[in-house]
Amino acid sequence: MVKQYADVIIDISHDKVDRPFQYRIPPELAGEVYPGVRVHVPFGKGNLDKAGYVVDISGHTDYPEEKIKSITAVDGKGITAQGSQIQVAYWLKRQYGSTMIAALKTVLPVKQKLKQLEHRKVTRCMEGEALLEALRQCEKKHQTAKARVLQALMTDEVLPYELIRQKLNVAPATLAALEKQGCLKIEAEAYYRNPVKCAPGEEKRVIPSRTQQEIIENVIGDYRAGKPGTYLVHGVTGSGKTEVYLGIIEQMIRMGKQAIMLIPEIALTYQTLLRFYRRFGDRVSVINSSLSQGEKYDQIRRAKARELDVIIGPRSALFTPFPDLGVIIVDEEHESSYKSESMPKYHARETAVQIASMHRASVVLGSATPSTEAYYRAKKGEYKLFEMTGRHGASRLPRVYTIDLREELKQGNRSVFSRKLRELIGRRLQAGEQSMLFLNRRGYAGFVSCRACGHVMKCPHCDVSLSEHRGNMLLCHYCGYEEQRAASCPVCGSKYLLGFKAGTEQIEEALYKEFPGVRVLRMDADTTKSKESYEKILSAFADKRADILVGTQMIVKGHDFPDVTLVGVLAADLSLNQNDYRAGERTFQLLTQAAGRAGRGDKPGEVVIQTYQPEHYSIVHAAMQDYQGFYEEEITYRELMQYPPAAHMLAVLITSRQQEQGEALSREMAAVIDARMRADGESAGEDTAETKAETEKAWQRLQVIGPAEASISKINDQYRHVFYIKHPDYQVLVRIKDILEHFCKEKELKNQTVQYDFDPMNTY
Ligand code: ADP
Ligand code: ZN
Ligand code: ZN
Repeated sequence: MVKQYADVIIDISHDKVDRPFQYRIPPELAGEVYPGVRVHVPFGKGNLDKAGYVVDISGHTDYPEEKIKSITAVDGKGITAQGSQIQVAYWLKRQYGSTMIAALKTVLPVKQKLKQLEHRKVTRCMEGEALLEALRQCEKKHQTAKARVLQALMTDEVLPYELIRQKLNVAPATLAALEKQGCLKIEAEAYYRNPVKCAPGEEKRVIPSRTQQEIIENVIGDYRAGKPGTYLVHGVTGSGKTEVYLGIIEQMIRMGKQAIMLIPEIALTYQTLLRFYRRFGDRVSVINSSLSQGEKYDQIRRAKARELDVIIGPRSALFTPFPDLGVIIVDEEHESSYKSESMPKYHARETAVQIASMHRASVVLGSATPSTEAYYRAKKGEYKLFEMTGRHGASRLPRVYTIDLREELKQGNRSVFSRKLRELIGRRLQAGEQSMLFLNRRGYAGFVSCRACGHVMKCPHCDVSLSEHRGNMLLCHYCGYEEQRAASCPVCGSKYLLGFKAGTEQIEEALYKEFPGVRVLRMDADTTKSKESYEKILSAFADKRADILVGTQMIVKGHDFPDVTLVGVLAADLSLNQNDYRAGERTFQLLTQAAGRAGRGDKPGEVVIQTYQPEHYSIVHAAMQDYQGFYEEEITYRELMQYPPAAHMLAVLITSRQQEQGEALSREMAAVIDARMRADGESAGEDTAETKAETEKAWQRLQVIGPAEASISKINDQYRHVFYIKHPDYQVLVRIKDILEHFCKEKELKNQTVQYDFDPMNTY
């Protein structure tokens, strides 16, 4: 197919990406026009000469041929920074499926009329006893925000204002009040000259171990030799990966290069930030969800202007337009938050590799529990693998007990705590040490049903059961729908409408009953509706204002509590029962991470894993902290079932207002693939024997599963149908996606939407 038409956007002014206009590519410019190239075109009635960017090219047009104007010239200066961002957007669109506009919006920063972000610093004005006394006063008056600031200033004389605002979550008024009290002073501007003057010599410079040195030298050596690669650093939490990242970035900066450091949002803690600030000063900045659009844009402007060397942030920081990108680091690369949940549903790991190859930069992936994908590629030699074993310093891996809950029941123990866990909690309380109890389950899943007829109370808008909450309310976790709990069953009228309590609330209650006087903090979707409440709970626990922290998986990520010596996992296998090919991997990762929370300080840690399936390989290997053993079993299963990474999988999700419409569309789409499969087999007859065999082979290995109703068949009154396509070659799936996109475009769908998800993190 000759691609003789180009979509050109005249004005990419960030704030609103304009609609593209189609132009003809004149034959003499064929081959020079592709996405990202700057071109000149005649525009509007007067055919004014305007410059624009090519964002897409295609072989067909929806306009009458005679109305299309031609591109007049190609800008000969090569691809600009803007152009290379458009190329990334184009790649996202092709690779993951979305409109070009959606892809551009993902990549390009949002511009807003904004005032220049002020750079301010906060300096402490009190020392020793006086400061301690001020802190005591604040604590006495329960001025927790003030206390947080003073605490931070105890360790550092000077801190960036923004750091305090964002990471400590302190309001400007609070800082102003502290200034009035004479505890600190706020100064503007100086930030630029001498931004993060942490008390001199504060950074604890460590001498890299032999392993650390080897990794740094390898990455930098390859880079200097003009052979930047992708590297996977496998090392347990505390093995010194961050030191490796710091070392690599430092060398890159020396070569005049910049670095992007990706961290899952939830793990982007104050401590981590401070480590980077201490090493690199004001040449480091952060992009995360707590920044305003204006602040975000300002960071991007600084990056472009070479005012920054390092940007730290979650997924979206990947698109920071550094002029001389040297390395992209993806910490905790296994985290599912690296996959975008809206279209284009890109994965930051793969996108990092793509962006790095465009800039001839290196990619360093790090994890204690690498994703099956990354480890598989490393084993195949696509990535260079480095193993870091053991923790630094005194802290050792914890001792793990796996408890069979069926045995407990046989022994007559009906409590949520096994005897072992109860005993160990008791000991911790006596010793004044902290524990964390982790319920492997999202939210609070206590559904309500009728004991007489079995009717389950469901959300009228979603295909999910409602959850019971304190105060006799029933809540839908998908759409927020709420209703008063009925007194009797709406179907049979029986009075026995009861809730199945299971979840963090129940555990909290059980703790109060079993250990009178215990101080418990609870952290789950209910208690952390806002980001502040999340940080409040964490800092309260860090300040030892509670003995036990109970929570869902959000408590196992990233946070360092040196005084936690016991971690209990209450229902380790709940996540195994999800009908999902990644369930085993997710369970292993969660358990390994949870176990890693115990004994981070000098005291040894213990872990109790309670489960109904102690023999499951995810649990067995997690208990032994044996990644290799887990990986071997997992990859055998993926290979057998042709799941990623052994093959690739495309999920096509169709949502519709009317159930029948969605069902019909999903069937039609599956039929399109089927027809295409046959047609391609036949038309291959015109090709050479070799390509014919190849085409046939390609289609033969295609598997279509479904269409069927999604496992949650309705959300927010939208019906959901899904089908899956599996194939070993990713590009074959991209072609199928193109065919389906084309088909849907022709159909001009109104009340239906189609989403594509390559190698999905969850099944639908
Ligand atoms: P990870 O990122 O793998 O969790 P870190 O890099 O945070 O590990 O290291 C864990 C702890 O060990 C940190 O306190 C760090 O300062 C310390 N550490 C790391 N490498 C060394 C080293 N070579 N010598 C001394 N201490 C080190
Ligand atoms: Zn009933
Ligand atoms: Zn709902």
